[in-house]
Amino acid sequence: MSSRAGSVGGGSSSGGGSSAGGGGAVPLAVLLRREVASERTASERPELHSGLFSQAKKGEDFTFLKPECERLPGVPSSSFSAFGLFDGHNGNGAAIYTKENLLNNILSAVPADLNREDWLAALPRALVAAFVKTDKDFQTKARSSGTTVTFVIIDGLVITVASVGDSRCVLEAEGSIYHLSSDHRFDASKEEVDRVIESGGDVGRLNVVGGAEIGPLRCWPGGLCLSRSIGDQDVGQFIVPVPLVKQVKLSTAGGRLIIASDGVWDALSPEVAFNCSRELPPEPAAEQIVKTAVHSKGLRDDTTCIVVDIIAERTNSSMPLPKKQPGIGVFKNMFCKKKSSDSSSHADREYMDPDIVEEIFEDGCAFLSRRLDSEYPVRNMFKLFICAICQVELKPNQGISVHEDSSQPGSLRRWDGPFLCQSCQEKKEAMEGKRRSRGLIWRSVIYTYFIKHQSAFSYTTRPHYYSADSSRSSE
Ligand SMILES: [Zn+2]
Repeated sequence: MSSRAGSVGGGSSSGGGSSAGGGGAVPLAVLLRREVASERTASERPELHSGLFSQAKKGEDFTFLKPECERLPGVPSSSFSAFGLFDGHNGNGAAIYTKENLLNNILSAVPADLNREDWLAALPRALVAAFVKTDKDFQTKARSSGTTVTFVIIDGLVITVASVGDSRCVLEAEGSIYHLSSDHRFDASKEEVDRVIESGGDVGRLNVVGGAEIGPLRCWPGGLCLSRSIGDQDVGQFIVPVPLVKQVKLSTAGGRLIIASDGVWDALSPEVAFNCSRELPPEPAAEQIVKTAVHSKGLRDDTTCIVVDIIAERTNSSMPLPKKQPGIGVFKNMFCKKKSSDSSSHADREYMDPDIVEEIFEDGCAFLSRRLDSEYPVRNMFKLFICAICQVELKPNQGISVHEDSSQPGSLRRWDGPFLCQSCQEKKEAMEGKRRSRGLIWRSVIYTYFIKHQSAFSYTTRPHYYSADSSRSSE
């Protein structure tokens, strides 16, 4: 079974003028804002073309393609594009719920009236808050099922990617390949293994009776081989929804994004994926990538691919990609966290060499308090009496500062925002391993249990949680 969606043009500042011919009065403030914003961003509005192809095995991959979004309804210069891929496991509830709610949660985590520069600066933290809120809200609806999330927001030439799990987003620009997403598998990340163990979880492989270890590294209890996801409430507190966020700015040469589920990446390297589809427009390119992956390994999993071409206006070319030797790119601009309060930084970026991909922001830390904090002035972003995660209104004295339990008292005070409500504070503590369960015998007990197909396995630690259906993977 396969499905596809056609290429979508647009994204230029002239494309979304839904209110232009309406004849109704437009407030002066809106007109002024529109003029200022369009003047500033006209040269940075690239054309986007996107395409999707998917071959389903379990029906747990879901996608979100919305090339025309507006932060301020009726203001075309506030437009941006959003693309998402959700690879569900243990059912499709979490994937569907996230697809339907994540973008709204992102937009409600930032004040609507921010100018473009502040919106882009606030976006990484809005993505973190929205992932955590979506996870928290979903857990009131269902205990089982989880999903990877790779969510891409393109505003002008700035690409912001937030991800949990092992779907990937890769960018080819200027002949180099950039990895813009996480690989939250225990096999791929020693840091994530350390984080889970420090929080009181265990990471190990399945033991077949007789002692041989098989399969990928998994987190116990639960047996999930992803270290971060949305959902998975039944797997335990060590699997967290805090995404890796990367933000880059393309040069005027544009680039191509491939967003694909692990069904593609288990079979193809990013180099092969770009090379096998290089001369094709987005939709046939996505199809070619999926078919190449399936041809190489067979259809063993849902295999989904979204291709987005970002074509800057100035180049005016239908095939933006130079046929250079691809290689793993190193960001040519060293890591620099954007301080938007520093007005010189914007000017610097305006006059930089146009032919580079500039990294603006990268943060993969799983700890919420660190992720909600940043050098960006907090008070501008988060309203005083609103929970920074779930947006619930707080009565005075009800909010708990994310710095409340800071291990370095003095630098930040408990009355400094952002603030969380009680339940988000509890969730944060659980996520950060402060409420680990005690009194369990962790190791040295051999426990035999049955997983799918009645094969007998044994596992030598943390036996207390196992049941026949508790073993799962991201597959
Ligand atoms: Zn809250």
